Amino acid sequence: MRIIPSIRDMQTWSENARRRRLSIGLVPTMGCLHEGHGSLVLRSVRDNDLTVASIFVNPLQFGPREDFGRYPRPFKRDARLLKQWRIDILFHPSPKEMFPDDFATTVSVKDLDKTLCGPRRPGHFNGVATVVAKLLTVVQPTRAYFGQKDYQQLKIIERLVKDLNLPVSVVGCPIVREQGGLARSSRNRYLTTPQKNNANQIFTALQEGRKLLRLRPYSPTSALNTVMKRLKHIPGARVEYLELVNAETLKPARAIRSRTLLACAVRLGSARLIDNIFIDPR
Ligand code: AMP
Repeated sequence: MRIIPSIRDMQTWSENARRRRLSIGLVPTMGCLHEGHGSLVLRSVRDNDLTVASIFVNPLQFGPREDFGRYPRPFKRDARLLKQWRIDILFHPSPKEMFPDDFATTVSVKDLDKTLCGPRRPGHFNGVATVVAKLLTVVQPTRAYFGQKDYQQLKIIERLVKDLNLPVSVVGCPIVREQGGLARSSRNRYLTTPQKNNANQIFTALQEGRKLLRLRPYSPTSALNTVMKRLKHIPGARVEYLELVNAETLKPARAIRSRTLLACAVRLGSARLIDNIFIDPR
């Protein structure tokens, strides 16, 4: 595994690989790796001749009161893991390399940021779309891998790639969970052990919601109320949102007519946890 910190070297490497007609998989991450990232990397290594993973804690996607400064950056441990997972290149640019002082461009995807995390994290998805557009043009991968845990992000990236005709296939990968059901996340590090145990109830509540919604697909209100009550009962939890949306448009869904997403964000201690579950019509 080679570590590349410079954009120029990354581009040269990619151009060589493409000239040799080798397929490239890209797994963008912010580091502090866990098995969720591992599942994306494994998939890429399986699907492609070469795999690039990037580690970049993107300042553009953090709000002024969010955790950019304290976001964990265990680089040596991450590099060791990526080597074990058999990637070829670790792209690890500095913030200045990615966003020099005169950087002036923002990539913004309309509409898909109107629900879920969008209104709660103003500017977040513009930051994500901008960094991902840049990573895709620098690395020029054949395929790029993203997790369904950040489902809204995945949808926004799919749209970005479609709208700009970027020559890459976006691959969405299922959520990897801890044994108790909690979606794996770098931010789970902020939780104490009792908080982590309590956080398992987020997935239990979403699963119950799915059961109720499939029983009565045309009246989601009472099902949503039940799930909301469960979430609010988690000790120390503050529910930021619980929403039912169409899984393609991310617009609010009033019934389960096509694939639908039940998604929530819950604050627990100093962590903000997101999770979601698909509900398909019977
Ligand atoms: P992050 O480092 O949090 O920006 O995540 C990098 C990529 O890993 C994103 O595409 C995430 O959606 C994905 N990811 C994070 N956690 C999980 C998980 N528990 N299961 C599947 N994918 C995940």
